[in-house]
Amino acid sequence: MPSPRYFLNHFVPFIGYPYKGEATACNLCTCAETVVVAKSDRRLKTLTSVACVQCGLIRTDPMPTPDELAHYYAHAYRADYQLAFAGGPPRHHLKRSAREAEFRATLLAPKLVPGARVLDFGSGSGEFLAAVRNLGCEAVGVEPGRDYAAFARSQYGVDVLDEADDDRFPAGHFDVITTHHVFEHLRDPANVAERLARWLKPDGLLYIAVPNMAATGKPPHERFHFAHVHGFVRQTLDLTARRAGLVPHPDFWREDTTVVYARTDAPVPALANPGLAGRLAIDLEPMPAAAFLASGAWVMPMLRRNAKAVRDTFASK
Ligand SMILES: [Zn+2]
Repeated sequence: MPSPRYFLNHFVPFIGYPYKGEATACNLCTCAETVVVAKSDRRLKTLTSVACVQCGLIRTDPMPTPDELAHYYAHAYRADYQLAFAGGPPRHHLKRSAREAEFRATLLAPKLVPGARVLDFGSGSGEFLAAVRNLGCEAVGVEPGRDYAAFARSQYGVDVLDEADDDRFPAGHFDVITTHHVFEHLRDPANVAERLARWLKPDGLLYIAVPNMAATGKPPHERFHFAHVHGFVRQTLDLTARRAGLVPHPDFWREDTTVVYARTDAPVPALANPGLAGRLAIDLEPMPAAAFLASGAWVMPMLRRNAKAVRDTFASK
């Protein structure tokens, strides 16, 4: 069990998270030079995020080590987001997940024919796997969250692996691979993109969705979260895919950072988005803390989050 102090340090605002981390180069382009884009997160805790000056990919600095992230997921993350897990995943997670699975299955419908091989990388509570299995596809999921994986297996009878190394599947195996709000949690998203691209058939599709760090209508700090060690905008998501030999598929609708990619043989261009880091630093510049507190912009998100937790806690009893 973590100490009470470790636990508390994850929730008290205006101080940093209990981790040391390590300096890392950009996972996408290997450049080490950065600009700071944020110094706090959605809990108003101290957390430094930087953008790579060469390609614009945002990352937490220092980057939590694999052990620190594992510790966080095992203790603080679970307490924070899964208070009601004793009765299964929180209801609002399941509702949202079912809606999202339907959207994804509709979008990819032309490829989800009987017999198609489908991988959902980061399959969560399993709604998308169940949806494509019901369409006659051969569906498999990968989900490191043990509770979610167990729920998916028992609730829907779907096939879920705890993890999948490079050689878990042969090259050119899948017709469709999807990964929904996973890449922002990974220390090595560019490497994982390459692995997923390798597992795709030559005419296969890779669906990737991540939060858009350039989304308007939210106070800038609301976009930062300790579990999100990388932050994407459309240009950096496209470049991550491009490095893996993928380009946006012209036949599929795309909304900012929800994109369907297809393989290409064209050579990989320079891994750069000139000027992007500077623009992100301006767009994500926080309000001064006092002005932010006075504006009350933090009240509604906090009430919403608490209301959901309370609802789920009582609904599951
Ligand atoms: Zn970079």
